[in-house]
Amino acid sequence: MSKLPILALLILPLLAVILGGYLAFTGNVSTTDVVLCVVGVVLTEYGITFGFHRFVVHKAFEPHPALKAVALALGSMAWQGPVVNWASTHTKHHALSDKEGDVHSPTISGFIFAHCEWLLEMSSDQMNEIRAKWGGRYLKDPMIAWFDKTFLWWALASLVIPFAIGGWSGLLWGGFIRIFFSSHITWAVNSVCHYFGPRMFTTTDQSRNNAIVGILALGEGWHNNHHAFPTSAFHGLTPWQFDFTGLTIRIFEKLGLVKKVQRIPKEYLERRRTEHINSEILPLQPGDEGAPTEASEAKAA
Ligand SMILES: [Zn+2]
Ligand SMILES: [Zn+2]
Repeated sequence: MSKLPILALLILPLLAVILGGYLAFTGNVSTTDVVLCVVGVVLTEYGITFGFHRFVVHKAFEPHPALKAVALALGSMAWQGPVVNWASTHTKHHALSDKEGDVHSPTISGFIFAHCEWLLEMSSDQMNEIRAKWGGRYLKDPMIAWFDKTFLWWALASLVIPFAIGGWSGLLWGGFIRIFFSSHITWAVNSVCHYFGPRMFTTTDQSRNNAIVGILALGEGWHNNHHAFPTSAFHGLTPWQFDFTGLTIRIFEKLGLVKKVQRIPKEYLERRRTEHINSEILPLQPGDEGAPTEASEAKAA
């Protein structure tokens, strides 16, 4: 990947936040600006968590085709790359988590590298290799392949829409400042959630449950749970682990808009928890009902 667009993606939103901070300090921010920013962050972040992550990569449920299209469009609008780039990088992360070859591991490459520097360091050849090795199964789905191809149009639309609604300040808040927050929230799952927080389950990586990222990233911060049960539709596994994305999956299921929702059987969950308390490292069995592993994810890729 050329470094220039990635550098721009890192720097422009940061400059926008500084300008936005100054405008807020001097009382030059409208309600429309704030709404465009907050709604933009939530919707595009939701496209990533519900669409790219839990549906495309982990097949944690099957959405109605219309819902699938909306989720793929919203995820593409997050400016986190075409869906197949995102999905294949994440598949590789699960297969080699916190081991040599993991694209973003804070314990191997350092915190800043895992947070966002890896994006700068990755060449187009490396990205193409990752797509070729881990992305084939995603391209078999015609709708996913189409959104992958048309990524740039959706990304541009995510700037045009706030501009059409709120003019230049709409573009600043609903475009660039929104991108700053949604990017850093997603990146925090890769960096913070492999570094800070308790672990509920024994896994072969350093994944953690982080409550702050749990809330900001719409449930994705319960990341140790996610590495323990990659295909579970729900990342929050206790009543106090608030999982906004999981909650909406439940609502969509009741409305008949999603089906085949993957749940971890209670007994299995308890067994894994007990293993952790006893500090016994018992590997997951790939064939276990409802509990696919990182190894089985890699095999499926
Ligand atoms: Zn992870
Ligand atoms: Zn995942």
